[in-house]
Amino acid sequence: MIEKLKDEKNAIILAHNYSRPEIQDVADFVGDSLELAEKASKTDADIIVFCGVDFMAETAAILNPGKKVLIPDIAICPMAQMLKTEDLLKAKKRYPDAEVVLYINTLAEHKVYADCICTSANAGDIVESMNSDTVIFGPDINLARYVESQTSKRVIPVPEYGLCPTHHQITAEDLSDAKARHPGVEIVAHPECTENILKRANAIASTSGMIKYCKESEENEFLIATEIGLIHRLRKDVPGKKFYPLSKSAVCPQMKTHTLRKVERALEVERIHVKVPKDIAEKAMIPIQRMLSMRC
Ligand code: SF4
Repeated sequence: MIEKLKDEKNAIILAHNYSRPEIQDVADFVGDSLELAEKASKTDADIIVFCGVDFMAETAAILNPGKKVLIPDIAICPMAQMLKTEDLLKAKKRYPDAEVVLYINTLAEHKVYADCICTSANAGDIVESMNSDTVIFGPDINLARYVESQTSKRVIPVPEYGLCPTHHQITAEDLSDAKARHPGVEIVAHPECTENILKRANAIASTSGMIKYCKESEENEFLIATEIGLIHRLRKDVPGKKFYPLSKSAVCPQMKTHTLRKVERALEVERIHVKVPKDIAEKAMIPIQRMLSMRC
């Protein structure tokens, strides 16, 4: 039924790497935030069904003002909610010469304050490319610290302690337990994890970077420190190698909210329609386009 509705309505389904396996299997394209934003900017479909969270669907809507972007159910990223306008304005006042780089995991109303948007795939390159020596960065403290360690910039995190609950809860104890179960296996971690995990990882990368690393590595087994949805994608894309979640409780409930039934319903009744007010969308488009044009 989903296929039939898609054909009838010239619709495509975009799904994040953290989506449920059955959603990934029915999607036309599965990727990380950067890949999904790029895909959304290029599609000629009339309807985009976005299986991800609020800020991702908003980004697709901003990039496609003439298209209908649907989200099967309300899915709110708690990290995006941690950023408050007043904190951003305070930081801009305190560091007037600093440019602002915001993680794509932010609401459109906050993207309007950014000089450039970034994803975990390009955060280091984007921050390094800024003209100012100090860069205001939000909302993930773990990514902010990691980016600072990888660039020549002073990075000011806004808010002071923004984080992804799913990644932040992966502990050093989880890592020790996983290593005991799978001795000698390489650890591949997402930069939203804490420093405790990152300093013990063999590779640190976005979800797309993790897939690339595992494909190209000579190793055959990996412990994966990110949301467990990526394991399905890895097993499909990198057959013959073995992948184990570093923590089985690294589950983002918001990413798992979309089900096949909800996707079908979204296509049937064309809801929930994601709309961004025109004035906000026009302003937020500028830093998003700057990121996409940088291709880093
Ligand atoms: S995994 Fe983390 S950053 Fe991604 S949607 Fe869930 S809470 Fe937000």
